Amino acid sequence: MLASCASPTLPPPDFETPYEKSGQVSSATHTEALAYYQALDQTYDQIKVLEYGKTDVGRPLHVVVVSKNGVFDREALVAQGKRILFINNGIHPGESCGVDACMMLARDLMAKPALNAYLDHVVLCIIPIYNIGGSLNRSCCTRANQVGPTEQGFRGNAKNLDLNRDFIKCDSRNARVFTQLYHDWLPDVFIDTHTTNGADYPAHLTYIPSLPDKADPAIRAYMADHFLPAVKDHMKQAEIPICPYVYNMGRTPEDGIMAFIDHPRYSSGFANLFNSFGFITEAHMLKTFEQRVTATYAFIIGTLGHINAHHEAVGEAVAKARSAAAARKEVTLTWTLDTSRVDPLLFSGYEAKFAKSNVTGQQRWYFDQNSPYEKEINYFGHYKPLVKVQKPRAYIIPQGYDRVIERMANNGVEMKALARDTVLEVEVSYITEYKSRSRPYEGHFYHDDVKTRREVQQIAFYAGDKIIYTGQASDDFVVHVLEPEAHDSYFRWGFFDGVLMQKEYFSPYLFEEEAEKMLAADEKLKADFETKKSAEPAFANNWWAQLFYLYKQSRFYEPTFMRYPVVRWDGRMGE
Ligand SMILES: [Zn+2]
Repeated sequence: MLASCASPTLPPPDFETPYEKSGQVSSATHTEALAYYQALDQTYDQIKVLEYGKTDVGRPLHVVVVSKNGVFDREALVAQGKRILFINNGIHPGESCGVDACMMLARDLMAKPALNAYLDHVVLCIIPIYNIGGSLNRSCCTRANQVGPTEQGFRGNAKNLDLNRDFIKCDSRNARVFTQLYHDWLPDVFIDTHTTNGADYPAHLTYIPSLPDKADPAIRAYMADHFLPAVKDHMKQAEIPICPYVYNMGRTPEDGIMAFIDHPRYSSGFANLFNSFGFITEAHMLKTFEQRVTATYAFIIGTLGHINAHHEAVGEAVAKARSAAAARKEVTLTWTLDTSRVDPLLFSGYEAKFAKSNVTGQQRWYFDQNSPYEKEINYFGHYKPLVKVQKPRAYIIPQGYDRVIERMANNGVEMKALARDTVLEVEVSYITEYKSRSRPYEGHFYHDDVKTRREVQQIAFYAGDKIIYTGQASDDFVVHVLEPEAHDSYFRWGFFDGVLMQKEYFSPYLFEEEAEKMLAADEKLKADFETKKSAEPAFANNWWAQLFYLYKQSRFYEPTFMRYPVVRWDGRMGE
């Protein structure tokens, strides 16, 4: 069916949403959602729909700002002590409960005075649907095991990218526009709304707060002691069962569940790099669409209510985390689950049972909704640092790496340009190990298991190369994308693959004489060479390998091979 995007019709004055009109079974299309918010904008001074740049499908991204005093400029709002709550919907358009929940919420905040009071100290920013291309690609059948809505959007965007892996690499226009939008509104609290896959259990909604170990101590403490308990309490009063996101250690929750690690590629991990509080909501796929929308709506109201009531404390935690980010000396790049730290979690589940499959003839398991249980299961809620790094005084990025430089600028990183050509003593990293994926992952042959070795070298730089001094609020982002070992570094995403290929070689018949001279002049080299030959028969029988071994230790071998181009520098321009 053709969407009537050219002349969206105004919704009736009662502002019933398409979801409500459908009897709570359908989800609004992008055209309907935008028309609805625009009608709210025309009716209420407190709501404004702002248009940002185009997404991959050609339609622009919008943000709906709900601001009680009718001010729509972040700087002015922050000066007035307002907190910003940012809600992203439809990143996975088949998981659209937040799309419809937020439309009702925006209206209810205007129509109901008790709810309007929640906006005394909080400004709400809502992305109606982030993955617009995926939401236009609607059908009955994109979510095999999900109950409703009648039509569901598709996970891939207009370039078949999963946008919830794209916040660092920014292959999509959606992500590049989002980056600008995020920094324009730099929120105190960020919520991304989803629907789960996986096990069956009674909870209507699961949640992922910022991973405690990764979060700044100020965010971590406030989340654990105040924020999360308050939201949980709100959901209890609303009589909506919730639990932490069920990320199974084994096949079922009874084997234990673990915390989800929010790497920077995910929305909440990206929010964490800029020290916003983060929540992912995951409404349960086997609850009705109405139950999922209701649960998501309640979770957002609970969050909003808490921020409003405790706006000073929330703001202090965020401010503290942001100034700590600029000051911290050490950053953890990679993490591993800490299996020694287990907490009991009172969990409501359905018993997993086994039966003979009519399809395969083998054992199948299922969750028996007639056998609910409540028992303590193991919750692995902590990760421990694997690789840590000391922040350098500065990084230098050669100007040819313009895709990296562009992403730095988009994320508000302040850069200086070298005024003239110069040679500097810097710390370089050689990539000593990496394993590339055998198939593209989200459009890249992503590199796993990256290891490096550092050494100090004199390197030539050129006028216009970029210097990033640390000590900025964006330091967590800078370190995580520029240190090659970090899980979502630009090295891992393939932005520096040029250095992984040797450029010059030698002519073996001509290199013979040079090799002979080298062995004659260097006793240690000669001894090592002979030892290697006697220890490794394959080497002893391979003349080319022997010459290449010597070539690699000669003055002709290129120092740039496997040398990561971004360097760490402890100097300062003008010194
Ligand atoms: Zn999702």
